[in-house]
Amino acid sequence: MPAVTNHMPTAELQALDAAHHIHPFSTQSNFEKEGARVIKRGEGVWLFDSEGEKILDAMAGLWCVNVGYGREELVEVATRQMRELPFYNTFFKTTHVPAIALATKLAELAPGNLNHVFFASGGSDANDTNIRVVRHYWNMKGKPEKTIIISRKNGYHGSTMGSASLGGMSGMHAQGGLPIPDIHHINQPDWWAEGGQLTPEEFGLARARELEQAIDELGENRVAAFIAEPIQGAGGVIIPPSTYWPEIKRICAEREILLIADEVICGFGRTGNWFGNQTVGVQPDIMTIAKGMSSGYQPIGGSILSDEIANTLGKDEFNHGYTYSGHPVASAVALENLRIIEEEKLIDHVRDTAGPYMRKKWEELTDHPLVGEAKIVGLMGSIALTPDKSSRAAFAAGAGTAGLICRERCFANNLVMRHVGDRMIISPPLVIQPDEIDVLAERAHRALDETYKRLKEEGLM
Ligand code: PMP
Repeated sequence: MPAVTNHMPTAELQALDAAHHIHPFSTQSNFEKEGARVIKRGEGVWLFDSEGEKILDAMAGLWCVNVGYGREELVEVATRQMRELPFYNTFFKTTHVPAIALATKLAELAPGNLNHVFFASGGSDANDTNIRVVRHYWNMKGKPEKTIIISRKNGYHGSTMGSASLGGMSGMHAQGGLPIPDIHHINQPDWWAEGGQLTPEEFGLARARELEQAIDELGENRVAAFIAEPIQGAGGVIIPPSTYWPEIKRICAEREILLIADEVICGFGRTGNWFGNQTVGVQPDIMTIAKGMSSGYQPIGGSILSDEIANTLGKDEFNHGYTYSGHPVASAVALENLRIIEEEKLIDHVRDTAGPYMRKKWEELTDHPLVGEAKIVGLMGSIALTPDKSSRAAFAAGAGTAGLICRERCFANNLVMRHVGDRMIISPPLVIQPDEIDVLAERAHRALDETYKRLKEEGLM
């Protein structure tokens, strides 16, 4: 086997990658035909690949590099912490300063009475924790029959057995025997695709009321919790109609169920507040956090629990924990990342500067013949591609016809935008500046032009 080095030609790296590295959410055999792009370095909102191309990363990696690439402060903190204490666990009556400091800071930032953090390594395992927490909580309250968790079709909560069951991705459920028992899915508030003749406001109310109907059908005595992303991310940045969350809030207040806000994408400034639930105006009982918590510099996630839940669980041993719960290096890096977000006023930047400017540029894309709607909150946005704007039509050749071509045209124009079906989505680093937003919009426009041309040439619209 050759020694893999940073200087190896791209084709050789790609061949070894295809031979030995199984990629997430990919058709592995495709890498034999066309190798993966090899990313070597990052700086701010920019990536540099093995061919020396400079690429604008409008996805912040996987929605996570909120403070941008190349932050020396985070490198220094990680180095210092690795020297001092690279690992110790937080089981068996031990703790360490990085975990204490991070949990304390998160309790300060989290809204309301969310003051207690159970750490994980990412969002999936944090959501697995949540399943166990809510079921165990109701058991401790003397209501062991409250085990059902209601979630949404096309929601994304992770890839482990539990979190993928919470998620409503049919393609995931089809592989590996999912969902696990006692997870119930209701419809998503995606007006563009599913709203029919209803106004967005009517549709938002109707979709929220599905929660109430589900509770009635399943029995309030059986339902433990409702979990949702304040704004669905991986489902295609589905921004719900304005009526949706206030109605969910009403239902949760009237019914004895817990609300879990999955803030893995929406948290840490993405929507122009610390957390997405503040943007949509609800107070959850549990928040799932990951990604922007460390800006992806270290793998870390967690569940922030309310006083009531934590105090109830605290009465007994909770038989749950991960080796890397509260990992000292990840915790120290996350804490430093939160300091950067605070000191550089990145949330104000999203709310007052980058967000409004990105919105203007994003909404201008609706002038393009392919773009039906452009939606954005803070710095997470999506455009819906359609062959006919007035009827909100889908492409006859199937979902993803235009999206996949558009993603490839973006890549060819050195712009990372992702596609979900025929929605193109963005979630750039929060540090993005107006001149970089201009580049993003200009490249997006070019990619749309090229996509349109291809679709016409191939008779796909
Ligand atoms: N929840 C949401 C809302 C997510 O977007 C993701 C990841 N995209 C997860 C959970 C899972 O997080 P991880 O990939 O860190 O396990």
